[in-house]
Amino acid sequence: MNIAVLVKQVPDTTEIKIDKETGALIRKGIPTITNPDDLTGVELALQLKETYGGNIHAFTMGPSSAKNMLRELYARGIDEATLLSDKAFAGSDTWATSHILASALKKHAFDLVIAGRQAIDGDTAQVGPQVAEFLKIPHVSYVDRVIDYNDGMLKVKKNEEHRMLTLNLPTPALITVLDEAAKPRYMNMFDIFRRSHLPLNQLTCDDLDVSLADIGIKGSPTKVKKTFNKSATQKQPKQTLNPEQAARTILDFIEAKGGQS
Ligand SMILES: Cc1cc2nc3c(=O)[nH]c(=O)nc-3n(C[C@H](O)[C@H](O)[C@H](O)COP(=O)(O)OP(=O)(O)OC[C@H]3O[C@@H](n4cnc5c(N)ncnc54)[C@H](O)[C@@H]3O)c2cc1C
Repeated sequence: MNIAVLVKQVPDTTEIKIDKETGALIRKGIPTITNPDDLTGVELALQLKETYGGNIHAFTMGPSSAKNMLRELYARGIDEATLLSDKAFAGSDTWATSHILASALKKHAFDLVIAGRQAIDGDTAQVGPQVAEFLKIPHVSYVDRVIDYNDGMLKVKKNEEHRMLTLNLPTPALITVLDEAAKPRYMNMFDIFRRSHLPLNQLTCDDLDVSLADIGIKGSPTKVKKTFNKSATQKQPKQTLNPEQAARTILDFIEAKGGQS
């Protein structure tokens, strides 16, 4: 089973600032981590490889500093890693990002592409499904568990808010995973020393079959009109109540709004 995993380096902070002119996040000088859902994706890939054999190739689009993240993934056990990095990629929205990632994936033959459900910075959950559309392969989002892989068919459990669906998916396919899908294993010192210096592949715009009109700011249909911080407002005066009074006050509030107690 040849697996591609999409992995994004994200800011390790909730104190994010936004560039007022471009509407993009300011990422310079901020500590980074691997997007948590993507560590789930890597772990799931490792477990599938252990069961069905094959190869795991991680892809990230980002700045040169993302190499450290890919080295950590080598230590976790992936077989190959590719960084997609070019000035021409800067300013890409989710559509352009998906286009770039899909162009790199097209250079290989994968049975399965695994993306996280969403990145903790951009938070759109659009990249996985969009990559699948660019690759013209089926996808299932919000995968809670991979049940089985047999004869080219992948059986997955999808969490659909109020119900669970079991779906059979012909491969090649893409799934986006929830953190329930796998619990990332700890790295061990032996693999950190032995594997984190494996060579990384690096691709630029010239290596991909993409047009400058489809990537970067030019190729991004998302236009950020305005950004602002939502401030919390307090309409009611602060009250100090014992637990019984507090419960009564909440119930009265709900009943006044037409709810049932
Ligand atoms: C106008 C505009 C300009 C922007 N400019 C920049 C910029 O200059 N630099 C920049 O870094 N971002 C920029 N962004 C943000 C960038 O578009 C998003 O971070 C990116 O498209 C991913 O979207 P998301 O964070 O919502 O990911 P989601 O769709 O929530 O991510 C879902 C999954 O997709 C995969 N994935 C997402 N992004 C990547 C990636 N880069 N590499 C590999 N896998 C990935 C991961 O598996 C992830 O778990 C810009 C956005 C806008 C709107």
